[in-house]
Amino acid sequence: MTRAHNFSAGPAALPLPVLESLQGVLTEFEDTQAGLMEISHRSKQFDAVAKSAEARLRDILNIPEDYSVLFLQGGASLQFYMSALNLLGTDDKADYLITGSWSQKALKDAKRCTSDAEGIWSPDDGVFNRVPTSADYKVRDGSQFVHYTTNNTIFGTQFETTPDCGSTPLVADMSSDICSRAVDVAKHAVIYAGAQKNLGPSGVTVVILSPWAVERSRTAGQGRPGGLPAMLDYGLMVDKESLYNTPNTFGIFALDRVLNWIQDQGGVNAMADLNDRKAAHLYGALDASEFWTPHALQGSRSLMNVTWRGPSEDLEKKFIAEADAAGLKALKGHRSVGGIRASTYNACSLESVEALVAFMKDFESKNS
Ligand code: PMP
Repeated sequence: MTRAHNFSAGPAALPLPVLESLQGVLTEFEDTQAGLMEISHRSKQFDAVAKSAEARLRDILNIPEDYSVLFLQGGASLQFYMSALNLLGTDDKADYLITGSWSQKALKDAKRCTSDAEGIWSPDDGVFNRVPTSADYKVRDGSQFVHYTTNNTIFGTQFETTPDCGSTPLVADMSSDICSRAVDVAKHAVIYAGAQKNLGPSGVTVVILSPWAVERSRTAGQGRPGGLPAMLDYGLMVDKESLYNTPNTFGIFALDRVLNWIQDQGGVNAMADLNDRKAAHLYGALDASEFWTPHALQGSRSLMNVTWRGPSEDLEKKFIAEADAAGLKALKGHRSVGGIRASTYNACSLESVEALVAFMKDFESKNS
């Protein structure tokens, strides 16, 4: 078997033991005499899988007992709209911290739900190389929530800590750093994340809701003209325990296996320690070089997606092609920004980052 060093931004590398454990269940799952994908989502065997995944996530993220956990479909992109639709009446205020393309998209969808959604911070020079501190923005009086993107997958910036928004509830898109470090879930009304970076395959979206968020769904959301469509109704999904319709059963099983792997590694603190070490190695190499230029500013640097530029676009292309040939895959920056990006989610090993840094040094010495 040849598995290269995989720096894909998502769908991203998964731990090998998890992938291996998935193979066995395809043809025969437990005592069902059928494959995992061939059994009912209402069977007792699948029920145990879903309950296990939820229990593991609650344990790993220390989710308060009165919070709800959902496994939905539609990706994080659907949550841009669904969160606003459930939490807001048609004229309610909602504030957005605009730190990149994903938060811009979230705000765009919120504007379809209320006349008063606003970006309360975005970089004045239009360069998404940093995130704000609490001194940089002011939450508007009466705002129902502040939405932010914890980690900006495209630009490689990340909030080091939860933004301070006083008593205003927080809504967080954690798609690209969930379970990579400890987070104070209780400070959030809604956390959502597509699974395909740190949690498993695409097609499952984790949504964590505070009691306030569920209540808002039943009041503000249901109070909208026409109410909420069933598939976009947090309250209904909570009542039906994510089983209003057929969920992504295979995806939820894979999610359970990834969460099991995180627990075996020592939980989020062990993940955070590994992620710190990988990032220190890579940023250290970038800072020590005059050839490479890191994109994100100190204090806003992502531990999950490290972005940088080479001396010219031609040399960037050459680097990406030669790295690929050397078994260092998926280093091309997002198509909207170019440059180079290494995604170093939980399942990316320190050895992969060491191999990348060694290759970068070699490339630099041959091309400068
Ligand atoms: N938010 C962030 C931070 C992301 O990185 C992505 C996907 N790369 C999305 C939202 C959109 O996710 P999905 O493709 O699951 O809709």
